[in-house]
Amino acid sequence: MRRKIVAANWKMNLSIKEAKDLAHQILTSDLQLNEKNSVVLCVPFTHLHVVNEELSKHKVNSVYLGAQNCSDKLQGAFTGEISPLMLQNLNTTHVIIGHSERRQYQNESNELLKSKVETLISQNMQVLFCCGEPLEIRKNESQNSYVAEQLTASLFHLNAEQLTKHIVIAYEPIWAIGTGLTASPQQAQDMHAFIRSLLSEKYGNEIAQQIPILYGGSCNAQNAKELFSNQDVDGGLIGGAALKADTFLPIIHAMN
Ligand code: PEP
Repeated sequence: MRRKIVAANWKMNLSIKEAKDLAHQILTSDLQLNEKNSVVLCVPFTHLHVVNEELSKHKVNSVYLGAQNCSDKLQGAFTGEISPLMLQNLNTTHVIIGHSERRQYQNESNELLKSKVETLISQNMQVLFCCGEPLEIRKNESQNSYVAEQLTASLFHLNAEQLTKHIVIAYEPIWAIGTGLTASPQQAQDMHAFIRSLLSEKYGNEIAQQIPILYGGSCNAQNAKELFSNQDVDGGLIGGAALKADTFLPIIHAMN
């Protein structure tokens, strides 16, 4: 059975106090996680410290701390950047790489994302690697080749061991992110199955079957169960609905 994951992407939201309170609410509820079902809280850099404190206080198994980006360098004269080593100082184990908002607003290229992936793997960290197409690409039905190019350019240089140990893929169609326009369960399943077929072509079916592929894009308490019931959907990357315990916890339960 593949690992399942629900990851929260808090983006640039919440004060430090709100972050601490939300982490507390999540960690003191009955999450029913195990080594196969986990939760990752990807919080702003400035909030890692306080969420790390909550995690150490409550010691809930299978809840991990994540960041939303990092540098592809480990240290040096890179003003304003955050190193994976600094993230590890705060017990951060996961990092979102290639979110469409960073690709769009910070012009992050496939080449840079490849370099970030390599740096994170060199530090034994977990990568939540985002891919997904904009609306125009979906309209002209070229989403498969678009996503294939993103994965090939930034991930497919890895060997099978690096892939299985360090990579979780999140398919996030850009037209569904923050818009309320969720992909239908069939659209999600079709793309996830396509991604798995690419993995299988490159690494063989046994490896492809081990990689979790999460869905992201207006996933919420109402639609999570149906999305996650698809064979190739192994959980979700959740934005807006992860900002409140009462909308996030049902999504965790939908995974379980
Ligand atoms: C995201 O930004 O990763 C995301 C999935 O956002 P939302 O759930 O708000 O669409």
